[in-house]
Amino acid sequence: KESKGKLPKYPNLERYTLLEKMGDGAFSNVYRGRDNHGEHGEVAIKVVRKYELSASQQNDHLHPDLKKVPKTVERANILKEVQIMSTLNHPNIVKLISFSESRSYYYLVLELLPGGELFHQIVRLTYFSENLARHVIVQVAEALRYLHEEKGVVHRDIKPENLLFEPIPFVPTKNPKPRGPDDEEKEDEGEFIPGVGSGGIGQIKLADFGLSKVVWESQTMTPCGTVGYTAPEIVKDERYSKSVDMWAMGCVLYTLLCGFPPFYDESISVLTEKVAKGQYTFLSPWWDDISKSAQDLVSHLLTVDPEKRYSIKEFMNHPWIKQNNEPTEPAD
Ligand code: ADP
Ligand code: MG
Repeated sequence: KESKGKLPKYPNLERYTLLEKMGDGAFSNVYRGRDNHGEHGEVAIKVVRKYELSASQQNDHLHPDLKKVPKTVERANILKEVQIMSTLNHPNIVKLISFSESRSYYYLVLELLPGGELFHQIVRLTYFSENLARHVIVQVAEALRYLHEEKGVVHRDIKPENLLFEPIPFVPTKNPKPRGPDDEEKEDEGEFIPGVGSGGIGQIKLADFGLSKVVWESQTMTPCGTVGYTAPEIVKDERYSKSVDMWAMGCVLYTLLCGFPPFYDESISVLTEKVAKGQYTFLSPWWDDISKSAQDLVSHLLTVDPEKRYSIKEFMNHPWIKQNNEPTEPAD
């Protein structure tokens, strides 16, 4: 399976070996990798190219090195991403194990989440039961509570592509149902675990701190910079930036429950207008069987006025979140 030939090498004493590619982001390639010292076992390695061909410099007569332009914006971002991630320690946030760079690339060695993106599970399952959606969104909220209240960090890119998960280990069925003649080729699908299901979604972890930002000093919980001289719009801005993550979490919860996002249009300008006005609906028939309580929670997150939008505390205290997982009927 290992195709070493074309893969970039980790530039730190060959400690990590890059195995196959797992994901493409906008600015990076992510590979499954191995820690040759065995300490971390399998890891994920996010490789970010330092240079990019700029359109204006794609002149054939130039020496290849002269066509390279530092991606200064991304450079600042990747270093900030590394800096912020290295201060974080939470069960629902992907851990940064190590960081290195070569002449052309940055390498972030990350804890591996073998389940991959939540995004693919929405595609696979069409939509989630309320219990499964709760199981997921509570963990996202725990990550946000930690970032917002303990670290003064806003993520700013909460979406199903950046939510990764640990699959639940397969639990063989104790009392397999007698199978009909048509079922003979069916594999044992494992014991059903209420609301979740074996092989399904276990622990959720938030990834991709490429757009994240420190807005509050975590010690004093005051805005960054000299407080006495901070303009009101900055104080407000920094308070609002947390509510940006809450809005995004509302979009994720909406999408988990029905399988499609709250705002969509082919035209970017129409879509932008819909978002600006908060124009979404609980579309029938898809929302007909989803509880009023879940809809109430979504609507408190998808509130245009950031002052009125739910904070993480209000979210955690909502009856739909506090509700225990009722045993759901096994999927037949
Ligand atoms: P980008 O900033 O380019 O979006 P991400 O950090 O989001 O980069 O990584 C891109 C993709 O790589 C993710 O959406 C996911 O599919 C995969 N990926 C990233 N980190 C991990 C990880 N720790 N474990 C498993 N897959 C990962
Ligand atoms: Mg991403």
